[in-house]
Amino acid sequence: MSANTAPLVDAFQRRITYLRLSVTDRCDLRCSYCMPEMMQFLPKKEVLSLEEMHRLALAFIDRGITKIRLTGGEPLVRRDMIELVLALGRKLGDGLEELTLTTNGTQLTRFAEPLAAAGVQRINVSLDTRDAALFEQLSRRDRLSDVLDGIAAAKAAGLKVKLNTVALKGLNENEIPDLVAWAHAQGHDMTLIEAMPLGEVDGERVDHYLPLPIIRDRLETMWTLEPLDYSTGGPSRYVRVAETGGRLGFITPLTGNFCAFCNRIRVTATGQLFACLGGSEQVDLRAALRSDDPDARLAEALDEAMRIKPERHHFEIARGAAPAQPRHMSVTGG
Ligand code: SAM
Ligand code: SF4
Repeated sequence: MSANTAPLVDAFQRRITYLRLSVTDRCDLRCSYCMPEMMQFLPKKEVLSLEEMHRLALAFIDRGITKIRLTGGEPLVRRDMIELVLALGRKLGDGLEELTLTTNGTQLTRFAEPLAAAGVQRINVSLDTRDAALFEQLSRRDRLSDVLDGIAAAKAAGLKVKLNTVALKGLNENEIPDLVAWAHAQGHDMTLIEAMPLGEVDGERVDHYLPLPIIRDRLETMWTLEPLDYSTGGPSRYVRVAETGGRLGFITPLTGNFCAFCNRIRVTATGQLFACLGGSEQVDLRAALRSDDPDARLAEALDEAMRIKPERHHFEIARGAAPAQPRHMSVTGG
């Protein structure tokens, strides 16, 4: 049967060209805003094999997906994950325009070079603090030096690094200007993110929720922030910091809605397609993949995903309230 090549366009006429594929929900850190200390991970048998993920990715590329971001959990803790990167790297220039990943950086000293060799050019690395004690408090692991070595290794391998920082009241909020200055001095762009109410964590997320307009106002008392047209097709709105020369992005799922430009869908490590990070609309791609007629079932499932993709998310973060979604970001794929 010939491949279905109909482009993915949702009910609001948004063309979907960007897939975020979670290769595992497991992680070697336990960031306190992301997951509880005793996180229950999915049984391994429920997770797609790398061959299934590859097959899925090829079906998406046939339908006009041009950018794939591998994520998790921590994508680099999945054994043999680099084989998937190599296989997808072969599609670069043949339907796929960009292959990238989001990582916590702990394993990058080992993987930066193989990633670059496979055709990855840009990666996002999460870094909420450069203070070792705060890093350990936030991530419940003493791994800051591994992460900083990993970021250096990525740069040395020629990867363009963007740092992602979740702004956290009373934790890293006073360090943010230093982090931005450091990132820019290293030649890295940086994006600040508001904490989102996804999945239960120990304690109240709202205690550390910090609206980014507050940070932006503070930075404006120190620096000149020049709005940029630059966009990676994502929710980040960028400025150039005149004094550092670097780019700074703001992702504001709570204080500013960006859904009108949404071009993405997410697939979990078990093959569940989520049409929106903040919604429950879901299609089971694993069942399609494991059916008697995977090509036809997958095509139907992707069409269904386009029908159900919601117009926008509705996040609220409030004391005592249940999370907007029970799924952790590490499950849906951050
Ligand atoms: N483990 C990798 C990492 O940390 O980069 C990839 C997955 S992680 C879920 C992706 C991004 O989501 C990270 O930048 C992390 O800080 C962010 N994140 C996790 N939980 C979040 C939440 N509840 N609200 C906002 N950002 C969150
Ligand atoms: Fe792991 Fe990333 Fe979640 Fe931190 S944010 S616990 S590194 S998945």
